Amino acid sequence: MSRGVVILGSTGSVGRQALDVIRSCPDQLHLVGLAGFKNLDLLAGQIEAWSPKYVYAPAIAGERTWHGAIVLPLDKLCQVSEADCVLISTVGSSGLHPTLAALKAGKTVALANKEVLVMAGQIVIETAQRFGARILPIDSEHNAIWQCLVGECTVDTGRVTGPVRRIVLTASGGAFRDLPIDQLNSVTAKQALAHPTWVMGEKVTIDSATLMNKGFEVIEAHWLFGLPYDRIDVVLHRESIVHALVEFVDGSFKGSLGPPDMRLPLQYALTFPERRAGSWPRLRLEDLGHLTFAPLASGRYPCFDLAMAAAEVGGTMPAVLSASDDEAVLSFLKGQIAFNEISETVDRAMQAHQPIARPSLDEIVAADAEARLSVTGRIGQPVQLA
Ligand code: MG
Repeated sequence: MSRGVVILGSTGSVGRQALDVIRSCPDQLHLVGLAGFKNLDLLAGQIEAWSPKYVYAPAIAGERTWHGAIVLPLDKLCQVSEADCVLISTVGSSGLHPTLAALKAGKTVALANKEVLVMAGQIVIETAQRFGARILPIDSEHNAIWQCLVGECTVDTGRVTGPVRRIVLTASGGAFRDLPIDQLNSVTAKQALAHPTWVMGEKVTIDSATLMNKGFEVIEAHWLFGLPYDRIDVVLHRESIVHALVEFVDGSFKGSLGPPDMRLPLQYALTFPERRAGSWPRLRLEDLGHLTFAPLASGRYPCFDLAMAAAEVGGTMPAVLSASDDEAVLSFLKGQIAFNEISETVDRAMQAHQPIARPSLDEIVAADAEARLSVTGRIGQPVQLA
């Protein structure tokens, strides 16, 4: 039976690749609704090309129909009866409420928006479990772990049962992995946006250059698979071919390899449990020559260290980490702060925050807002000359 899909963030990088996947599986997937947030022209083009039944965008919220599609509020779009799966490919905190809405309606959530689990992992996983809804990881590392676990373990949302010793996430090291540390202060947004192996949206590409992205992914893995932090490791792997590894109790490893192409994890999740043929560019091992692994250089990635510190504190602290990083990256992209100041900004926001253990959703949203205000208020101040 064909599976109905709603895509949130359809005009972004992951959303557009998800449309490629749906186009390539016409017998198994069909599009039910789209939501876009910034690029209204592209969203209009997608509605014209795909004729989905439903649409949402902030700019058209007052309309009844738009380009022939029925305009719904965002939470209603995540709950329509025609949808089996909701792909959350938004960025930052915008994906949180729609994710919860979809889970409460029992929908399968294909989650590409890692900040949702960083800021509110406990609430999101508990909501999925209470409503019997699944969360399928789209983030390539987590999708790879999932692929390694299938056949070895019972994989439920937030819980893995089986002979796993630890999981290992790989990190490319980002755009500045070879730059001397003392030159990091003067790098530009354009340089930071040139990722060595992956083509992605702006926010995640900057987060990859600071390695905040990998810190987020450790927290994301902790919630998705229910493993303590001391059983989640990160290793530098420059080629981005081995996406993640699982070490089992007997000392054997399984790794998931593939070209760095988001359409693979998207297709695996959207058509699961079937593994379908794909028409994407293929990996030729003989062309690779070698694969390398190394520890993360200490001192080079303060954002990663901050993420691990926030993970250890828990409660509202990861929400402050995520929100302050969101604002700091935006300021960096606008040229308002230097690259090094991203970590300094996040550090200050975390220092100023009084964390709340086991927070409610309201407390998380308040911590997010407080962190954003502390960052934007400060960056908005005129520079003090000594
Ligand atoms: Mg990733």
